[in-house]
Amino acid sequence: MTNILWLQGGACSGNTMSFLNAEEPSACDLITDFGMNILWHPSLGIELGNQLQQLLWDCIEGRIALDILVFEGSVINAPNGTGTWNRFAQRPMKDWLDDLSKVASFVVAVGDCATWGGIPAMAPNPSESTGLQFLKRQSGGFLGADYRSKAGLPVINIPGCPAHPDWISQILVAIATGRIGDIALDELNRPSTFFKSFTQTGCTRNVHFAYKASTSEFGQRRGCLYYDLGCRGPMTHSSCNRILWNRVSSKTRAGMPCLGCTEPEFPFHDLMPGTVFKTQTVMGVPKELPIGVNKKDYALLTIVAKDSTPKWAEEDIFTV
Ligand code: SF4
Repeated sequence: MTNILWLQGGACSGNTMSFLNAEEPSACDLITDFGMNILWHPSLGIELGNQLQQLLWDCIEGRIALDILVFEGSVINAPNGTGTWNRFAQRPMKDWLDDLSKVASFVVAVGDCATWGGIPAMAPNPSESTGLQFLKRQSGGFLGADYRSKAGLPVINIPGCPAHPDWISQILVAIATGRIGDIALDELNRPSTFFKSFTQTGCTRNVHFAYKASTSEFGQRRGCLYYDLGCRGPMTHSSCNRILWNRVSSKTRAGMPCLGCTEPEFPFHDLMPGTVFKTQTVMGVPKELPIGVNKKDYALLTIVAKDSTPKWAEEDIFTV
């Protein structure tokens, strides 16, 4: 039996909504097939009333083993570092987190707010929000750079706005089955298996990207979204086009540019529609090039690609 406690800080519940859509494995599979016991979850847990605080104290004082602490949302430190009172838990959430992190075997941060601070941590950050072990790309966050859970690991970061449901459920299974040691964490403590490649890996528009065939409209099934619509697929670490959403699609497959939501710097351009969905250029060259490509090579590639684009590269790939 693996005890899981899921708590929320400054959150919109988006990662909970995402988690409930997990398919491989599903949230139910975690309980029925992998022996997980969800001690409490703000949406799934029964109304515990005062018993919720008792449950949290039981974990802190060792009467209940806390195997996995999952945290969703930013850690709110306002006002003036005291932390905002949480009416369910009758104590600032940051204080519960401080105590529970000391007794948890594993701590998992789900979503951008818990990993990097997310949107709440954007300047001027009136909620004094931070992620569990990072503030944006800077190591530290609420628990500090040296924090290790009882199992000896840093906070396992599963970013995304929201995180992909199967990334969450698969990491929970890896922990519960004792296989988390097989999963390498990168320099941002993300499981490499999900975040080593780019969103572009597996995108159905790669052929359009290669031939520099662009689209300037949302929802189109032809053309790449990088050249005009600001797609961040070549600069964003995620497996959204390898492990599809609902097993069928992704943003870019549906004609929506990748917003780079798994990266610590998200949200880019303050999510202003006129800026975020527009490729920023200087003399026709995108300001942000795909990682690993320099300006000189990009210019050269552009000329060759434009000259050699076959007619079919401009067509809708799904129309017969
Ligand atoms: S749509 Fe985005 S992810 Fe897909 S090929 Fe173009 S730039 Fe890459």
